[in-house]
Amino acid sequence: MRMWGVDPALLCGPHLSGEHKELHMMRGSLRLGHSMQGYFDKQQIDVSLINSRHDAIVREFKRRGWNHQSPLPTLKVTGGSIDAAANLKELYKRCPDCRARIERHKYKGGNIMAKKQAASKKKKQAGSKKVAKKKVAKKKAAKKKAAKKPAAKTQPTRNSRADRVDAKIKTALKKAGATPELKMGGLYGELPNGVKLWVGQPPLLKNHKLHSSKAITCEAGRVGKTKTTATFWKTLPHTAIGTVAEIVQHINALAAGKKPAKRRAAKK
Ligand SMILES: [Zn+2]
Ligand SMILES: [Zn+2]
Repeated sequence: MRMWGVDPALLCGPHLSGEHKELHMMRGSLRLGHSMQGYFDKQQIDVSLINSRHDAIVREFKRRGWNHQSPLPTLKVTGGSIDAAANLKELYKRCPDCRARIERHKYKGGNIMAKKQAASKKKKQAGSKKVAKKKVAKKKAAKKKAAKKPAAKTQPTRNSRADRVDAKIKTALKKAGATPELKMGGLYGELPNGVKLWVGQPPLLKNHKLHSSKAITCEAGRVGKTKTTATFWKTLPHTAIGTVAEIVQHINALAAGKKPAKRRAAKK
């Protein structure tokens, strides 16, 4: 008598029905009080598993469309042990039909596929090592970033400069009576006298020649490439280019209804 203990799906027909028959025999022997010590010594049976094992085998019977008409009454006993992994190895060696099933199922419960497993494990480890390395690199990068951040506070970046410029322009527009709003990456405002203007900044216009110059605004009329933006610029004859101070002057002049002193506005 022997319990294989392996996944019943891996057992060939004779081994599956054989184990089933032996489970019933085992129960009979236990009821009659026969000694199981010989089987225990060889690690061939674990009597505490009789019922659960029978259930598993019956499920496999049904999966294979086999008939099962021998319920196994519950029997609460303990004793013995089995080594399912070793059994799987043995079946793999001993029975070509079981081996075919095991290979088909790529069963990883035992050490049958020791070599294959080791190979795939190595692959996995290599993969996880790569991932780990990447993670470490990411952490390092994050640390560097974190270390750089305080420095950014003392040395204004392009963005913080742009923000300050935005704030100044906004204030000027508000003072002039406009309600500035963000539009197309710049500040758009309509003065009480109907003058519309847009003040844009180089960071938005990366390819613009003024990108790295001191001028903070761009000749927006040349920037818009799509029809919509081009149309938008055409409606804004007072769109300006210049330094912050010049732009503020420009806004004030427009608000006062004057012709801006230094007009470097976009084409009409
Ligand atoms: Zn049965
Ligand atoms: Zn077999």
